[in-house]
Amino acid sequence: RHKEALAARSADDLRSPICVILGHVDTGKTKLLDKIRQTNVQGGEAGGITQQIGATFFPMSAINEKTKKLRENLTKQVEYKLPGLLIIDTPGHESFSNLRSRGSSLCNIAVLVVDIMHGLEPQTIESLQLLKDRKTPFVVALNKIDRLFDWQVYPNYPVQESLKLQKKHVIKEFNDRVEKTMLAFSEQGLNSCLYYNNKNFSKYVSLIPTSAHTGEGVPDILHLLVELSQSRMTDSLMYLSEIECTVLEVKVIEGLGTTLDIILSNGILKEGDKIVVCGTNGPISTVVRALLTPQPMRELRVKGEYVKHKEVKAALGVKLVASDLENAIAGSRLMVIGPDDDEEEIMDAVMEDLTGLMENVEKKGVCVQASTLGSLEALLTFLKQMEIPVSGINIGPVHKKDIIRASIMLEKAKEYAQLLAFDVTIDKDAQELADQVGVKIFKADIIYHLFDSYKSYMAELAEQKKIDQAPKAVFPCILKIIQVFNKRSPIVVGVDVIEGVLKIGTPICVVGEDGKTITDLGKVTGIELNHKQKQIVKKGEPSVAVKLEVAHYETPKTHGRHFDDKNLLYSHITRESIDILKSTFKQDLNKEEWGVVVKLKKILNVA
Ligand code: GDP
Repeated sequence: RHKEALAARSADDLRSPICVILGHVDTGKTKLLDKIRQTNVQGGEAGGITQQIGATFFPMSAINEKTKKLRENLTKQVEYKLPGLLIIDTPGHESFSNLRSRGSSLCNIAVLVVDIMHGLEPQTIESLQLLKDRKTPFVVALNKIDRLFDWQVYPNYPVQESLKLQKKHVIKEFNDRVEKTMLAFSEQGLNSCLYYNNKNFSKYVSLIPTSAHTGEGVPDILHLLVELSQSRMTDSLMYLSEIECTVLEVKVIEGLGTTLDIILSNGILKEGDKIVVCGTNGPISTVVRALLTPQPMRELRVKGEYVKHKEVKAALGVKLVASDLENAIAGSRLMVIGPDDDEEEIMDAVMEDLTGLMENVEKKGVCVQASTLGSLEALLTFLKQMEIPVSGINIGPVHKKDIIRASIMLEKAKEYAQLLAFDVTIDKDAQELADQVGVKIFKADIIYHLFDSYKSYMAELAEQKKIDQAPKAVFPCILKIIQVFNKRSPIVVGVDVIEGVLKIGTPICVVGEDGKTITDLGKVTGIELNHKQKQIVKKGEPSVAVKLEVAHYETPKTHGRHFDDKNLLYSHITRESIDILKSTFKQDLNKEEWGVVVKLKKILNVA
C-alpha cells in the first residue's frame, strides 16, 4: 500500500485545494460565493461545476473559461496544473474552524472578504487570528467596489480592465480606500498590497478589488487562488496513502438516519471501509454503508435523491451513511482502520481532538458550549487571550446537566457561574433551571458578540461587588487632630490627613499608651471643607472637619477622657477588611496607600 502511495505522490498528480471564504458579517461572503459559482450564463452550461455535499467543485476547465479574459492580458502566463478547486459552501468561521486535523488546517487557502467601504471590522480581525493560528495562506477580496461613487459597471471584467475605464475621481476614492485598508492591515502586523503590484506572495497579502454584484474582480480571485495554491503548496496537494478527512456536519436525513457530511481532503474513501470518529460518549467505530453526492444540477432533482459512489477521491464533499452516528461530533477527524492498524490506537487518536481541549479546563472558571469541535476550539483560544478561565466544556445543545455543571461555581466562585453558549440551542428545561439557580447563560452566534456581552456583564458585576462590599472595605488613613469642635456625640474634630485616604464610612480608632488597647471612636459620617461636604480626602489636601458617630447600641466616647489631641486617629482595619480591599479594590489604592495598610497592620496588631 505504501509503495503504491509513494508512486502516486507526484507533482503532476495533485488534488484540488480546499478553499474557505471568511470575513465580517455583511461584507458579501455569500454573494461572492454565488457569483463565483454562477455558471456560464450565456451558454446555460454548468461548465462542469458540480454541487457536492457542503462544497462546490470547480474543475479547471471552468476556471480556465472564467479567467480567459484576464489571462489574455497577463504578461506572465501561468500554466494551471491543478484538477480544480473545492470551495466550501458555508462561508465563515464555523466551516474554517471545523476543517481541521490535529490542530492543523485542512483548508488550504482562504478568501478573506473585506467591505471596501468599511475596512477592517471585528470579525475580520477574528478571521485573521484564525488564519494566523492555522498558518493558512489567504487572499483578501476588497468587496463592493461598485459602491464607490460614480462607479461604472463592466460585468465580470478583470478588475484592472474595469479600473482603467473609471473616471478620475472614482480612481481617487478607490486609491484612498485601498490606502486606508493597507494601513489597517499593517496595524494588524500584516503587509498588504493590490495583488497586481504584489511581487512577493510570502511577504505581502494580496488585495483583490471585487464586486459580488457585478462580478468585477471575480476572475482575478479565481486566478489568484489557483496561482497561489500551485506556487505555495504543491507538497500538501500531493496524494497521501492515508486519508485526511473531517466531519463538517452531523445531519439526520429521512430514510438514511444520522449521516455525516464530510470533506475528504486527501486520499480515497471506499464503501465498506471501517471508520472511527469522535463522539460525545467516546469514539464511534462503524462501517461506511454509502457515500453520496447530490444529483448533477441539470437533472431534475427529486428531493432526497443522491448519487451513490463505490469510492471517492479527494478533494471532495460527500455524505457518509453508516450506523451508530447519533453522537458523532462535527469538526471531528475521520480515520479509516486498515487491516494492519491497531483499532484502539486510532480510537485514542480520534478522541484526542476532544480530550486535547480538556487541557484548557481549570478548577474555577466559566462553562463553555459550542456546536462543533472547531468552534469550541476557536472559542477556547479567544477565552485564553481574554484571560477568562474555563471549568467545563461541552459540544451540542445545552441541557439541564450542563446547567448543573455550571452551577458548581455558585459555591466556588460565583462570578464564574456562567455558561457561554456559542451557536447552540438551549433546552427550555435548561433555561428554566438556569434562571432558578442563578446560572447566567450568554448565547451568541458570533464570538465577539459573546465577549462583548460577557465583558459588560463582568464589569457590571465588579461594580456591584464594590457597592456591596464598600461598607466592609476600610481604606487606610492616619489623621492628626488640629482642632476640636465637639467633644462628644458626635465627635467633631479638625484633622490633617497625614497618611492614606480618608473616606466617608471609615471606622476610626485610637491606640492606648500600652500600644495594645484599641478604642473605637465611631465611623466617619461627615467630612467638610469650607462648609462643603466631601466623600474622600487624600494625604496632602487641606485640613477638613470630620464627624464621628457610633451606632446607637455603642457607648459614645469623649475627647479629653478616652482620647486627646496627642492621639493619632487610625482607620480601624481588620484581616477581613484587608482581604476585601485586596480582592475588590486593588486598583483603587496606589502603592504608597498600600504601604499605609502595612503600617496600620503593625500599629493595630492585625495578623
Ligand atoms: P455575508 O454576511 O458576508 O454573507 O454578506 P452577504 O453576501 O449576505 O451580503 C450582505 C449584503 O451586502 C447583501 O445585501 C448583499 O446584496 C450586499 N452585497 C454583497 N456584495 C456586494 C457588492 O459587491 N456590492 C454591493 N453593492 N452590495 C453587495
